[in-house]
Amino acid sequence: MADYIVRATAANAQIRAFAATTRELVEAARKAHDTSPVVTAALGRLLTGGVMMGTTLKGEKDLLTLQVSGDGPMKGMTVTADSQGNVKGYAIKPQVMLPPSALGKLDVGGAVGKGMLRVIKDMGLKEPYVGQTTLQTGEIAEDLTYYFATSEQVPSSVGLGVLMEKDNTVKQAGGFIVQLMPFTEDTVISKLERNLAEFSSVTTVLNEGKTPEEMLNLVLKGMDVEITDTMPARFYCNCDKKRVEKAIISIGKKEISEMISENKPIEVNCHFCNTFYNFSVEELKAVLKKCSK
Ligand SMILES: [Zn+2]
Repeated sequence: MADYIVRATAANAQIRAFAATTRELVEAARKAHDTSPVVTAALGRLLTGGVMMGTTLKGEKDLLTLQVSGDGPMKGMTVTADSQGNVKGYAIKPQVMLPPSALGKLDVGGAVGKGMLRVIKDMGLKEPYVGQTTLQTGEIAEDLTYYFATSEQVPSSVGLGVLMEKDNTVKQAGGFIVQLMPFTEDTVISKLERNLAEFSSVTTVLNEGKTPEEMLNLVLKGMDVEITDTMPARFYCNCDKKRVEKAIISIGKKEISEMISENKPIEVNCHFCNTFYNFSVEELKAVLKKCSK
């Protein structure tokens, strides 16, 4: 099943919902960054949350960034999504290993630790929107739920999951976000609570071969789910040598001259997709000429 996101409404538009299957994009992130299983799970959950949240952006060039910083061994991670299902991201310490949690699961909360979640929406205005909340568990889904409730005042339920194969590749990944509109009736809320209590888990459902649509039909059982659209999702970074060159130009003449004087090619790495760009001394000299300061 190729990665995609579905958006839906339910209970006469009293509920808005998203669901996604993201196995391929989480596996692409794992390969790009050579992440350990616990980091694959952590980053995969954040990528999945981010790519669903990105679809709420209005403008084609708008970007949504989720930044987790914690005192755990992974230190933090950053994910950026656009409105068209493209998402990229990285963890600060991609190879962290931890023993499983008490429940025998990958200890994502332990890898993240205590800290903050920042949500940055860049909508082409002078100042981006920034919402910041305290991490609740570091397990990501609960942290996003808390963010929606406190920062956006939207009561939400978020489920995110990454299941690994024995060889540490990604077997299943996906998630859902269910949000209540301000006028949601109490009967709808209690029905939703019952459904959520009966719901096994994102990865269990996906591993049974169910689609994101079927996942929403379980979470929103008996609530007349209406799928409003579907969109492919992918791990995609828009970096290229031109952009990296711009970044080098921005560090200024003095530093570039110092690089040239060392008479060695340099290697620049894109954090988001881990692509390396090489610049020869000749190329650096050409970059230097483009510097204004
Ligand atoms: Zn990149």
